[in-house]
Amino acid sequence: MKKLMSGLHEYQYRIFNSQKDLFERLSRGQSPEALFITCSDSRINPNLITQTDPGDLFILRNAGNIVPAFGASNGGEGATIELAVSRLGVKDIILCGHSHCGAMDALFNSERYRDLPMLSSWLSNAEATRKIVLENYGGVPMDDLLNVASQENVLVQIEHLRTHPSVAARLAKGDLNIHAWMYKMETGAIFGYDPIQGQFLPAVELSEDSPQKSRIRLVGL
Ligand SMILES: [Zn+2]
Repeated sequence: MKKLMSGLHEYQYRIFNSQKDLFERLSRGQSPEALFITCSDSRINPNLITQTDPGDLFILRNAGNIVPAFGASNGGEGATIELAVSRLGVKDIILCGHSHCGAMDALFNSERYRDLPMLSSWLSNAEATRKIVLENYGGVPMDDLLNVASQENVLVQIEHLRTHPSVAARLAKGDLNIHAWMYKMETGAIFGYDPIQGQFLPAVELSEDSPQKSRIRLVGL
C-alpha cells in the first residue's frame, strides 16, 4: 500500500492541480468518446495505451474481457453497456483482448482452476471460444493456442455485444462502430481485426473508421 499512498499524495498535490481546468469541466458531466471493454489484467492500462485523458473512455473490465449475451446474466456488464450506449451516446465500442491472458489459460486448463468456482462459472460465457478453438486449431502448441483463443474470444464477445438491444438499435441506425483489438503486451503493439482480410493487423495500418460489420475467420497474429 505504501506505493499507492505515495501515489495518492502525488496525485492530490501535483497532478490534480496541474489539470484543474479539466477536472472542473468533468465535474459538470461526461461525454466519453468510446466504451472500452478489456480484461482486468493489471498489465493493461487503457488510458496509457490510447494516450487518453480522464473523461475520454468509459471503461468496462472483467476477467477475460467477457460480455455475457443479453439475458445470460444480470451482472454489471449489461448495465454498463446500456449506460454508455443509450445514455452517454458513445460512437465507438472497443473490445480489447490481450496476450498471456489468465482467463484464457483457465478456459483451456480448467483442472488447475477447480478451486475458483466463480471463475469457472463466469467462463461459461466464453464456451463458444473454447469450442471454436478446439475444433479449428488442432495440434497447435498450448502457448499459441491461448494466443489464438484470446483473438477468437474478442470476436465471440463482440457477437454477444450485438445481442444487447441498446447496441443492436444503434448498429441498425448506423451510428455506432464496434472495434476488435488485441494488445500484445510484450511489444506494446495493438492489432485491430480487419473483417475484409479476416485477420488482426497492426492498428496503425487500419483507418480510423474500421467498423466491425461481419465476422470472418481469422488467421492469427
Ligand atoms: Zn486477461
